[in-house]
Amino acid sequence: MSRYKINTLEEYFKEYKKSVREPRKFWDKIASENFTWYQQWDKVVDFNMAEAEIKWFTEAKVNITKNCIDRHLIKKGDKTAIIFEPNDPKEEALHISYNELHQRVCKMANVLREQGIKKGDRVCIYLPMIPELAITTLACARIGAIHSVVFAGFSASAVATRINDSDCKMVITSDGGYRGNKTIDLKGIIDESLVNCPGVSNVLVVKRTNTSINMKAGRDQWLQPLLDEASDNNVAEIMDAEDPLFILYTSGSTGKPKGMVHTTAGYMVYTAYTFKNVFNYEENDVFWCTADIGWITGHSYILYGPLLNGATTVIFEGVPSYPDFSRFWEVIEKHKVTQFYTAPTAIRALAKESLDYVRKFPLKSLKVIGSVGEPINEEAWHWYNDHVGDKRCPVVDTWWQTETGGIMISPIAFVTPTKPTYASLPLPGIQPVLMDEKRNEIEGNQVTGSLCIKFPWPGIARTIWGDHQRYKDTYFSTFPGKYFTGDGALRDEVGYYRITGRVDDVVIVSGHNLGTAPIEDAINEHPAVAESAIVGFPHDIKGNALYGFVILKESGEYRDRENLTNEINQQISNHIGPIAKLDKIQFVSGLPKTRSGKIMRRILRKIAEGDYSNFGDTSTLLNPEIVEEIKNGKI
Ligand code: ATP
Ligand code: MG
Repeated sequence: MSRYKINTLEEYFKEYKKSVREPRKFWDKIASENFTWYQQWDKVVDFNMAEAEIKWFTEAKVNITKNCIDRHLIKKGDKTAIIFEPNDPKEEALHISYNELHQRVCKMANVLREQGIKKGDRVCIYLPMIPELAITTLACARIGAIHSVVFAGFSASAVATRINDSDCKMVITSDGGYRGNKTIDLKGIIDESLVNCPGVSNVLVVKRTNTSINMKAGRDQWLQPLLDEASDNNVAEIMDAEDPLFILYTSGSTGKPKGMVHTTAGYMVYTAYTFKNVFNYEENDVFWCTADIGWITGHSYILYGPLLNGATTVIFEGVPSYPDFSRFWEVIEKHKVTQFYTAPTAIRALAKESLDYVRKFPLKSLKVIGSVGEPINEEAWHWYNDHVGDKRCPVVDTWWQTETGGIMISPIAFVTPTKPTYASLPLPGIQPVLMDEKRNEIEGNQVTGSLCIKFPWPGIARTIWGDHQRYKDTYFSTFPGKYFTGDGALRDEVGYYRITGRVDDVVIVSGHNLGTAPIEDAINEHPAVAESAIVGFPHDIKGNALYGFVILKESGEYRDRENLTNEINQQISNHIGPIAKLDKIQFVSGLPKTRSGKIMRRILRKIAEGDYSNFGDTSTLLNPEIVEEIKNGKI
């Protein structure tokens, strides 16, 4: 799989130019040289952006698990595919070899078939971060069932909505899950949600916590006895390139979650290619992405991307704060992790704690560190770079979305020079453009606009499950002929991209377009501030004014609030200009966040407007109690 590795900046520019000039030839070569196919494609890509119809590698036949597992067995059957690091550090970590993974996925695939699951059926997987989550997901892919993994932190009603939206026939769950010092009653949540899911007739239960649970006769079965009976001989389903591989709901920070549909061949080619290049993957590396498999980051860079490259990937069951704030660093040391990939929200949370937690560990094995999920503010970037990467590991700030399947704009480790808060350059095959309000493409550098992509790439989602019209409306109508990301971006003097936040979050103050990310960045640089969020609210004179919600590092302890407010505004003035000063500042102890750690700004907007009537779909909210606190204005 080394045939598509980019090694120098010069090579990057050469590949990039080729990919724009002759995208078909570019992807054709990558796809034919690096994967196992049952049958080749007739067309590399076939698309109509206006209708949101996109197909890659048409007529090709493939099975992604043959590429993730079977083809590695001859040369590296004994190599570790998955390292499982349990929640409790006292519990032994597991090393699952490619041979063992093959055997377990085959058995699981046979169980699914015996239970009547066929190609095209939807299976909901609601499991904690244990090996069975990877194995059941891959088993679905092996028999052509469409997996819908739902993050095991969602409530019963959120799970029910997702099960019903995609008509899942089966649910795979566990008796419970560990998270830090808590045990979560996953089966109880499923029982509650299934009251509203008439289509589910079969529930398979993994034993993890040995909690006593209800087993509903005729519906629920323990998985292990079925596996014990199953053969480990399994013939993989021959899939069409465009057969759906999975449905995954977006994290829901902007509205009703969308069931994004990813198909087989394009997703396979794209995740494998981006994994290899962005993270500079080499044969003996140990890759650790701390996301949950329930998010796209986990799908693409815990499971598919690493396994397609025959890598060793870490599955971590726990949380960064348990047993204490050194857990991440301890795990890196323990398994000699070479690439570490996490989210700004985790970095900020850990940066708030004593440096001793990270200093205790030399972290010499690390070579690349990555960030994903939100803009990483400058202070967090430096903390990560200085204390985790020791200024020697490139920080890859990877911009992408559930909809894009894989990383789109990002430094390539050891190739692209990094710049704090900049996702930097598009990967080969990706053609970003910035658009103005009049829907014209903005040429040149040092400009900002709405970020669109003007040519399809293999990993793009093909539709929203059951609602192609919504897919078309959301992504292809604002700027006809282009994929609209919903994000705003700045292109600097050398063509580097910086994501400035969601376009919906841009606030127009006295006629100036202000992105939220740069303002928050300025505020967060104040030594007293841990985190902040900015929203607009209607203002008689300016049209809109800015409202800042600010979390202090040691809440309560801090001096004079009025002084602090002035200092924060001075900070904004210095970095951005007086126009971006906040009209109101509210000090809070937390911010409403989705379960993937993103700020739900639409709730803050409502609060800033003084409208407490309808916060919309809040089922993906991690900390609903904070909404009350902010509403009441107390800390
Ligand atoms: P929803 O679409 O349901 O509102 P979501 O957009 O949070 O949810 P995801 O697909 O998980 O769901 O997140 C993608 C978004 O995350 C991007 O559109 C962007 O706003 C933000 N994002 C991801 N990575 C980065 C990054 N490196 N820099 C800046 N923003 C990022
Ligand atoms: Mg989104």
